[in-house]
Formats: sequence, C-alpha cells, structure tokens
Amino acid sequence: MQVNIKSKSISTSNKLSKLKTFNAETVLCGNISKVDYHNHTNFTDGKNTVEECVIKAIDKGLTTIGFSEHVSKNEEWMKEWFARYLEDIEMCKKKYTEIDILCGIEAKINDDNGNLNVDEKYIETVDYVIGVLHTYPKFKSNKDVKLKLLNKKQLVDIEELYNLSVLKNSNVDIIGHVGAIYKRFSRYGDLPLNAFENIIEMAGKVDIAFELSGRYHQGLTLPLLNLCTKHNTKVSFGSDAHHLKDIGLIIDVLKREL
Ligand SMILES: [Zn+2]
Ligand SMILES: [Zn+2]
Repeated sequence: MQVNIKSKSISTSNKLSKLKTFNAETVLCGNISKVDYHNHTNFTDGKNTVEECVIKAIDKGLTTIGFSEHVSKNEEWMKEWFARYLEDIEMCKKKYTEIDILCGIEAKINDDNGNLNVDEKYIETVDYVIGVLHTYPKFKSNKDVKLKLLNKKQLVDIEELYNLSVLKNSNVDIIGHVGAIYKRFSRYGDLPLNAFENIIEMAGKVDIAFELSGRYHQGLTLPLLNLCTKHNTKVSFGSDAHHLKDIGLIIDVLKREL
C-alpha cells in the first residue's frame, strides 16, 4: 500500500506543539538546547527504568527528555508492556515538574513505500514518532550473505532508498540515526555526505526533522548541520541512550564539535 505524503501541519499539529525541533543555523551559532529525544528504557533494550532516566536527565541539566521505545506490529509483545510505559511516563511527569518529559516511539521502516512496523493506534498515543531504518527490508538480516556481495555504491543506494522511504510516512516527526546500519554493518565506515545530503534535502521538503545522533554521528555533526542549513531542514537531538551514562550524550558531542 502506498503511503501518501501529507502536510505535517495537518496530520500532526498536536504533536508538533510538544516536540521542539531546531533551526540548524541557530545550532551552528552555538545555541544548543539541552534536549534529548532518543532514549530507551528497560521496557525494551535499555538498562534502566523511566524514572531512573528522568533523574539522570535532571542531574545532567537537560530541560527535556523524550523516550523513544522500540515498537512492533507484534501485538502480543506490545500488550505486555506498552500501557505500563505510558503510565510510568505520566507518573514521572507529575513527580518531576522541573523537566519536560515527552513520550515517543522509534518505529522501523518495513518496505520502500513508507510503511512502519507499528499499528496506527500506538502512534495516536504518543507525542512523536522517530522513523528509522534497522534492517534492509529486502534482505533477511543485516548479516545476510547477499549484502556482503554488494559494492559500496550499491550499499549506499540501499541505505538511501530506505531512508527516503521513511520520509514518505507523514506520521514520522523525526528521521533517526541516518547511516547507522551502513556504519555498523558495511565495511565502509560513515555514509558518504552526498547520500546524507539527498536524505536531508528530502527531509526539509516534507518537514521531518533530521536527528543528530550522539551515538552514530560523532565527527559528522558540523557537516550535517551545514547540510541541514543549506536545505532548511530542522534538526532534532538524540543520544540513542540505552544506559544512564549516555543520556544527553548528543549535547556533549555538539559542544565538542561545534
Ligand atoms: Zn534504532
Ligand atoms: Zn534507538
């Protein structure tokens, strides 16, 4: 099924009022807001509770922490924990009023038409959606032997195709950790900047924020911010933290690199 590109201002107006995204040029001028929208808890593959993460974020001096748990179309699994995830976040919002707390999800792309691996009913319950590429949908896994046969250009093209596919889904507010799968599973290191640029340009056109990732974009934040400035693409900050020590990592990376 083809997912059409809709106007973000119509489809997600409620969400956008809570989620703050940033002008890349302002960030380049050193205006780095202390927010982190990409954090995992022990509801999925993170190590700590929601409350432990909130306390750490306050200690670190963040003004906003956003949670971005992994989701799936596996309804049995979602039923096991998702309602408790929402409840824990609500509890922390009441208990820790010194910090803004947002509830998001990280959903992976399932095909090249923009379909995400999550049921719409979960999207309606959260403040924002981070759309990501985790596995190349046409391959069995990231270690598929067929992937090893591809040359650099072919791998770049696949990474680009599926990241552009994430941008076809109007439920997506942020495109997360672009280039992560290429960096982790190919032997070529960081995704080339021209591939980043094609994705950043499209993100600007459809008004989806480009995540600067503390985990995957170290050494790249300056050129990525320049590309976001060139294409008038908003940016988001995310550490992809799975341990307390990594909450707010993206802020440290930006301060170091800008
Ligand atoms: Zn991810
Ligand atoms: Zn993540």
